[in-house]
Parts: sequence; C-alpha cells; structure tokens
Amino acid sequence: MSIANNLQSIKSQLPTNVTLVAVSKTKPVSDLMEAYNAGQRIFGENKIQEMTEKHQQMPKDIYWHMIGHVQSNKVKYMIPYVKLIHGVDSLKLLKEINRQAVRWRKNVDCLLQIHIAEEETKFGLDENELSDIINSDEFKSFQNIKVIGLMGMATFTDNQHQIKREFEHLKSIFDKLSKQPTTQNLQPTTLSMGMSGDYQLAIECGSTMVRIGSSIFGIR
Ligand SMILES: *Cc1c(COP(=O)(O)O)cnc(C)c1O
Repeated sequence: MSIANNLQSIKSQLPTNVTLVAVSKTKPVSDLMEAYNAGQRIFGENKIQEMTEKHQQMPKDIYWHMIGHVQSNKVKYMIPYVKLIHGVDSLKLLKEINRQAVRWRKNVDCLLQIHIAEEETKFGLDENELSDIINSDEFKSFQNIKVIGLMGMATFTDNQHQIKREFEHLKSIFDKLSKQPTTQNLQPTTLSMGMSGDYQLAIECGSTMVRIGSSIFGIR
C-alpha cells in the first residue's frame, strides 16, 4: 500500500468531526510530500528540531502540530510557525509558550496533556493538577495562549477494555472542562486521543482528533 492509499483508507473511516494529524516523526521529507500531494495538510512531529527542519523544506500551507514532550528552552524555535502544541503538561511550560508568543505577537493554541495510562513513563497531568492550572491567576493572565482542549495516550496494551476505560476517563475530564464558562484563553473544543492501534476505539469514546503515524507511513 502506498502512503496515498493508506491516507485515503483511513480518511474514509473518519467521521467528519474528527481531524487527522499525520504523524511523520522520523520519516523523510519525501514521504511527507507524498502525503501532502495526496491532500494532507496537518502533520505531527515530536521533536522541535526535526519539525523545524521539515517546516523549512516543505510547502508553507502546512499546519504543524507538536505532539511530543516539550522542553521549555526549545519552545522559542517553533513559536513562529507551530499551529497546535498537544503535550503541554505544566504551568511553567505554558508560561514560556505565552512569553514567546508575546515576543512573536502570535496567539498559540495548546492542548493540556492528561495522564490516563498505567505506565509511569507517560507524561501528563491528573485531574487536580489540570484544575489547579486553569484556575490559577497566572493562567488567567496569559494573553497569547488559548487552551483548546485535552490530549492523552492510552496504555500500550492489547487489552481493549483497559484502553476503552482510559479513553472514557479522558472524555469525562474533557466533558467537565467543556462545561466551565469559556474565557479568552480556555475554549475547549478538541479532544486529541487515538493512534494507529486504537483510533477507532478512541473515536467511539469521543475523540475529535486522531494522531496516526505508522498506519500511514509504515513502521518506524
Ligand atoms: C508517535 C506518536 C503517535 C503516532 O503513533 P502510531 O502508533 O505510529 O500511529 C501518536 N501520538 C504521539 C504522542 C506519538 O508520539
């Protein structure tokens, strides 16, 4: 199967309210161009340097999403062009994103990452930490940041029941967040969950944005 065929077959399965992020990390620009030529415009990368290099080489109508863990000291390199940062998991990081966004006179969309997996290694906030952040005076003072939703990753397991439980947990946190009064920098509409192995289940559980790599580009 070619990249274009893979894309087409995945897109034909997605409800219209679900956005596809093509996760192109580690793949060469030629592969990304194949997806681009098949109409794909949203690409996800997990390393700022790699994303920046690809951004420089590729057409400028692409929306670049940062899906990986972000180090504060590297934020400045992506602010000029990044469309959405998925993995924000601290007030400190939000503060740096806001600071750089102010410098560039940009508004930057972010998702807060929630820890839903059993593995200790996966990054993310718990529900209390999320609430502490969005209710803090500092968060409310950020002028150039908009939190448009949440992101999460399920445990890497074959146990569908467990994955479903974790996705439902994230969806319930998202629903609570969505019921809060919206403000200038909190307007939750997006729930980023689901990867190659579990996106159908994620969509059943309410995902509005899936991040798919290997099912499009092949194994890494
Ligand atoms: C790599 C990655 C993906 C895509 O994973 P696939 O299994 O290749 O679809 C999705 N989300 C995040 C955060 C990733 O790092």
